[in-house]
Amino acid sequence: MLTTNPKPARMSRMDEVGRGVYPFCGPCTATSEAWRAAEVRGPMGGRFYGHRDVCENCGSSVRTLYKTVLWVPVSKVGRYRIVPTGGRSYVGRKVIEQPLRTVVRREPVSAIAQYPELDGTPDYKQAEAYWLDREPGQALPHYQAALAEREQLLGADDPATLRVRLRVAQGLLATANYGRAIAWFELLTPQLVEVFGSHHELTRTAAEAVTGARLMVGGPRSEAQLLADIVAADVSSGADAQLLRDQAALGKAQLACGDISDAVETLIEVVRHAVPGHPDTAVYRSALAEACEVAEARGKKRDVQLAGAARQLLNRADAPTST
Ligand SMILES: [Zn+2]
Repeated sequence: MLTTNPKPARMSRMDEVGRGVYPFCGPCTATSEAWRAAEVRGPMGGRFYGHRDVCENCGSSVRTLYKTVLWVPVSKVGRYRIVPTGGRSYVGRKVIEQPLRTVVRREPVSAIAQYPELDGTPDYKQAEAYWLDREPGQALPHYQAALAEREQLLGADDPATLRVRLRVAQGLLATANYGRAIAWFELLTPQLVEVFGSHHELTRTAAEAVTGARLMVGGPRSEAQLLADIVAADVSSGADAQLLRDQAALGKAQLACGDISDAVETLIEVVRHAVPGHPDTAVYRSALAEACEVAEARGKKRDVQLAGAARQLLNRADAPTST
């Protein structure tokens, strides 16, 4: 029997616009930043006014928060994108106000000047040759080897290492390893933003590629399933760095599905086993902090308890950090 199902159309629309931090859509997430709602009740507090730029994808709208004294608005605090979650509760993100002048960023400096041999290693040269020949599948193992060389000498977040990390992610995407590609892009994108800036060509390439990978996978639910299978395979092969990366992506996919306590649990595991002093650890910690914010904002008892445990882990002196 044929039935009309409105869901696929909506899913593909959601994919087209990219995925955001639940319950916000991609564009609404990209134009806002995580924000922890302060207490905004009582005579000295805050109150939202206005209701602008309603998003047809996620239903959020932009509201202006005013500080109030005796319930009278006295000063503007800022603009927030809000999704009501029933009654007086809501989830909010702070709208990123565009700076008046665009800051021109300089190209970041790599430590590769001290290790010029890295550009001449057999693996790197072979990888580049295959890449130029449009053979990403052939290039992939050589880029993976070149990446190991660079991470060892330059560090994981050196600009020259990040360029090869991007090639590895692109190679995985080109060879239809969508789950592992998504995991790489998620780890890589915040590092590209940090080192090159959000408008750099490399950052935009990564953002577009992850959107493409998601289109192939087809929605957060299938992405979470795919990544759960990949994580299970990683566990049995004992590949540590790969396991952490894939598990972090699984946590983010669970968050995108609205499986918030699963997401917090998965990301707790990642942070627990993250490598101290490694730049990737900062990305994993902020993914966990973001999941906590969503859990706390939604306010379900089990989610909030788990978020409390996660925050304790993040605050512990012996918990892994990137420094
Ligand atoms: Zn939206």
